[in-house]
Amino acid sequence: MGISRILIANRGEIALRIHRAAHEMGIETVAVHSTADAEAMHVRLADHAVCIGPPAASESYLNVAAIISAAEISDADAIHPGYGFLSENAKFAEIVESHGIKWIGPKPEHIRTMGDKVAAKQTAGKLGLPLVPGSDGAISDYDEMRRIADEIGYPVIAKAAAGGGGRGMQVIPDAESMEPLVKRAMSEAKAAFGDDTMYLEKYLGNPRHIEFQVFGDGEGNAIHLGERDCSLQRRHQKVFEEAPSPVITAEERDRMGGIVAKAMAEMGYRGAGTIEFLWEDGEFYFIEMNTRLQVEHPVTEAITGVDLVREQIRVADGKALSVAQEDLRFTGHAIECRINAEDPFTFAPSPGKITYYHPAGGMHVRVDSGLYAGYSIPPYYDSMIAKLIVYGRNREGCLMRLRRALEEMVVEGVKTSIPLHRELIRQPDVISGDYTIKWLEEWLADRD
Ligand code: ADP
Repeated sequence: MGISRILIANRGEIALRIHRAAHEMGIETVAVHSTADAEAMHVRLADHAVCIGPPAASESYLNVAAIISAAEISDADAIHPGYGFLSENAKFAEIVESHGIKWIGPKPEHIRTMGDKVAAKQTAGKLGLPLVPGSDGAISDYDEMRRIADEIGYPVIAKAAAGGGGRGMQVIPDAESMEPLVKRAMSEAKAAFGDDTMYLEKYLGNPRHIEFQVFGDGEGNAIHLGERDCSLQRRHQKVFEEAPSPVITAEERDRMGGIVAKAMAEMGYRGAGTIEFLWEDGEFYFIEMNTRLQVEHPVTEAITGVDLVREQIRVADGKALSVAQEDLRFTGHAIECRINAEDPFTFAPSPGKITYYHPAGGMHVRVDSGLYAGYSIPPYYDSMIAKLIVYGRNREGCLMRLRRALEEMVVEGVKTSIPLHRELIRQPDVISGDYTIKWLEEWLADRD
């Protein structure tokens, strides 16, 4: 018996995204929601809905017992975790499977290994991926840290093994600041992840962030779906993403994509994954792997025509990959703008009631969002309220269409990052694709 009812253990645009793929496959959906989300679009669209707790995520979207109970009472035969929340929680994946419910995600052991960035780096090294030079593993002795930093050269970056969302990392300019800055990163990591294990890496001066989308069937077959360039970041958080990268040639894509796909095949990786690299002076350096669907997955869908959520559901259901590497074509160019409910330039959060909403439309324009007029954005969760994804036959056409789509998009009642994106895509460096992970913060600082 194949999957017939999926519980979506998430909220917001990604819950809708999963609902849409499921319905297109003739599969029913169960929404779970906190009391704060009773009026949310993902709840309205789903076939069934179960309230799983109060607003705080720790008591609702992270509440394993409540989610499993919701799956049991609604007779769901599979759970899709989306991104964030429980998506990279290996224990949750195991609990789901132990209840005889299909887990629409990677094998728990792979989630566990890649969730520990030290183990992830070691695994990536063994699989032949190029690494950022640094400590061989976790490190806690300050003299040893200074010795390693002398060897690889300052600045270095201290990163939390359990890190995510850009938290728990500190750039260390010299030997004197090693101890105080590592301690700061450790206390941040302890507070955010309950784990202050640290490792050291060379701090690359001016790289781009380039990541490869991979997909495995769990049986030793794996493909890559090209790269995404996510270099426009603020505080290590992505703001604007595109595929393909303006700096990667078709030969480079084939070469590096071949390496990551082979690595995933060897691992027996199942489902969607992203292998993140920093790229500097033509060289790739592995930084981490995310064992889930990413926020920016639609740009890959736009240039490949592959529905990644459908593929995830198929693979979880024991089916083969629907596309072979040699049949994949990368056509055109796609850009995604993350639209947050926040001040476009101070980034102060701006939750509240949407008084008017008009999404952009037209050819090759996709808006993934749970917004509607009259909806109140609750203050408890991530500030991202919409993603605007635009496709064009080439990068220039894509930018022209994006400009037009941003003109059309209206969200009233709260502040959003739409004005930031309108300005961004007029910058000569963005138009030419000449930017690195430092660019956005420098531009914002100069703008003041
Ligand atoms: P997280 O899991 O918190 O997102 P990552 O390891 O993916 O952490 O790094 C997030 C971002 O931090 C990268 O995209 C990059 O901007 C910056 N970063 C991480 N490691 C380095 C490094 N060694 N040198 C320079 N920048 C880095």
